[in-house]
Amino acid sequence: MAPSHAFSFGPAGEKGMTQRQSEAIVLRSWPFEEADLLVSLLTREQGRIKGVARHAMRSRRRFGGALEPMTCVRATYAEKPKQDLVRLDAFEILWSPLSDPVDYGRTAALELIAEVLEEALPEQAPEDAVFRLAFTTATEMQIGRIWLPVTYFALWMGRLMGWMPALGHCTVCGLDLRGQKVWYSEIADGVMCEDDRRGDSRSLSAEAIGEATRMFRSPLGELTQEDWPKGRASDLRYFAVSLLERHLERRIRSARALERL
Ligand SMILES: [Zn+2]
Repeated sequence: MAPSHAFSFGPAGEKGMTQRQSEAIVLRSWPFEEADLLVSLLTREQGRIKGVARHAMRSRRRFGGALEPMTCVRATYAEKPKQDLVRLDAFEILWSPLSDPVDYGRTAALELIAEVLEEALPEQAPEDAVFRLAFTTATEMQIGRIWLPVTYFALWMGRLMGWMPALGHCTVCGLDLRGQKVWYSEIADGVMCEDDRRGDSRSLSAEAIGEATRMFRSPLGELTQEDWPKGRASDLRYFAVSLLERHLERRIRSARALERL
């Protein structure tokens, strides 16, 4: 990643502050107090943190690019003892989603990663595998090529969070379901055989499970050569998103927006 722009948020060097620098992914920002912005970041060193970018509102046009969700930055920030919010001093853009063309689908796909990371990760817990997954899938999301990285991200995120059930056996009777269609419920753990499926269950085709197996074995770059229209493994995407939604106990808005495309 080659650095392109550097933005400075304010003076550094107050007493009692610990200065830090980390690669980070911008997840969200909100207006905060007068002219400041509150920014949620996934840092490589410290996991998810929240910080204040002082006066960023007033010069929003200047900082707007660096604060776009899923921008990868080298963040310089300062921690004060016993304070949850860090002080954001400077962002150097390493990769920006705005450097490639943007449309509604690509924006919603990038938003899905930011939304899930924001909801799923506790603060101050480094998750290097999640960081790498998020960055890799975000950079593969391009206009007309979003469905593979969306599915790959949702599936792997479920696994990295420890939420992915074994797909090869019925959770009720233990029947070997490898190579077969399985059923799952949006309100219960595991997958089921046809006899044990619940009234509210949906199915996951054998082909979809085959795609999941490939995604768990292959780096994303190996799969991107193939054609991935919206309809390919759409039941797998639905399964992966609903697994995340059940554990997050909320709907993922950007995933719903994507399905309406
Ligand atoms: Zn069964």
